[in-house]
Order: sequence, then C-alpha cells, then structure tokens
Amino acid sequence: MKLVEKDGVKIFKFDILEDVKHCFSTRVGGVSKGCYESMNLAFRGDERENVLENYDRILALIDSKKEDTVWTRQVHTDNILVVCKKDRGKGLFFERIKDGYDGIITMEEDVVLTAFSADCVLIYFYDRVKKIVGICHSGWRGTVLAIAGKMVEKMVELGSLRENIVCGIAPAIGKCCFQVDDVVIDAFKDKFEFFDKCFEVDKKSKGHYFVDLHSINERILLEAGIKKENIENSRICTKCGSDLFFSHREMGEKRGSLAGFISL
Ligand SMILES: [Zn+2]
Repeated sequence: MKLVEKDGVKIFKFDILEDVKHCFSTRVGGVSKGCYESMNLAFRGDERENVLENYDRILALIDSKKEDTVWTRQVHTDNILVVCKKDRGKGLFFERIKDGYDGIITMEEDVVLTAFSADCVLIYFYDRVKKIVGICHSGWRGTVLAIAGKMVEKMVELGSLRENIVCGIAPAIGKCCFQVDDVVIDAFKDKFEFFDKCFEVDKKSKGHYFVDLHSINERILLEAGIKKENIENSRICTKCGSDLFFSHREMGEKRGSLAGFISL
C-alpha cells in the first residue's frame, strides 16, 4: 500500500488494485473545520458544502465524481447488496439506501462504491476477469460474522472464480491499540478455530486483550479460497496514525469519517 499526495490531498492506494479506480482516504487535504478537519467524508453534523467540496477533491485523484457514489447504511451486519447505475447518488444527493448493508458489490462501470470507517476495517474486492468490485465494512462485529468471506461467496454467485479475486485490507485499528474485554474475546473464540493466533492478553490490565482485526480478516479471506498472494494487508493502525486518520478510539464521537472508494 502506498501513500499518494496530489494537490494537497493524501490518499492510500493498494498496489494489488492498480487496475481499478480506488483509494482509502486520509484526513488530509479537505476543507472541513474543527473536529472534522479536514477531509471529512460523512455528514455527521459537518457543513454540507464542505463535505461536497471534500468529495470533489478526493474523487478527482481517482478520476471519479461524487454524483456516481453509492452509500449504504452501515449497521455492523453481514448484509450485502448488489448495486447498479440507478443507485448512483444515493447517500450524497438522494436518500441513502434504507436497510442496513455493510457490504456492496457492483458489476457496472462508474458506480463508485463508498464505505465509511474510523478504526473499523474496510476490505476491497476486485475480480480481474469477470470485472466485479466490492467493498465491505468489517468492525469487530462484522468480523465475527465473517462478512469478508460472505463477500467472496456473493461474488462467486455472480460468476467469479475465487482465484481471480484480489483483496485489499485497509488501515484500521491495529492490534497495538484494539483493546477489548471478555465479551468480545468469547464471541471470536466461539467462531474461529484460528483465533488463538490473533490476540494477546493485555498484561497491564486484567480481563483485557488486544485483538488483531487485520489478521483475522486475512484468515477469513484465505478460508474463503482467496490466494495468499492475492491479498494485500496494510496492517496500518489508524489510532497510532491519528495525524493521518480519523480514529474513533482516539477522538470519540467528535470527529470526521474516513471513506473507502472503489469503481470499475
Ligand atoms: Zn496502534
């Protein structure tokens, strides 16, 4: 993954997705003020004009436009929706798609799939042969539900072969900072046999643990049949890098949102 800067805007791009329009935002290069400073990409009480300007700035870097974006309501589920050109503008200009979906997929060109994050994991999908793209939002709840694996199954239903799918795992809260309690640990233990390799006991705080969401999502993708060499895992921590990222754990509710974009 590399950091690209153009016209004052900084974005991250996956090497493995160089054939397709995409990026993961940083908070650098927008016009929003205060706790939204500066590249805030969700409304969250920010001024609408500023958010729209931010969209213009960031999407110019990936040769896309804000009128083509599609938002869903992310509610920590494993629901996945296939969208098309008629859904463009939902979220930014029209009412957002009503029901909760944390994964979106399209087979059509110039549909800019948009997902939001401020510590949660975003995972990008691209079938190089069948020309299908997708993105999902996988916080700890979505990760327990293995939404990343369900994205692969949905793409297979649409005609993808697993060996043709490449995936990028974006910056998100790292094992260094994602401290959780027994409730979260038990949910993971019940679900994944490999989980013992993906967390550590917090030696300084009894009853707490550090969980590695980047690794768990990579293992979910491997179990879903994605080749190891077709996964690019950023392993970048958004809380450690809060000069570049909005981090919920670092900033709380008074913050902007990062976004991931992908389009054919
Ligand atoms: Zn960290």
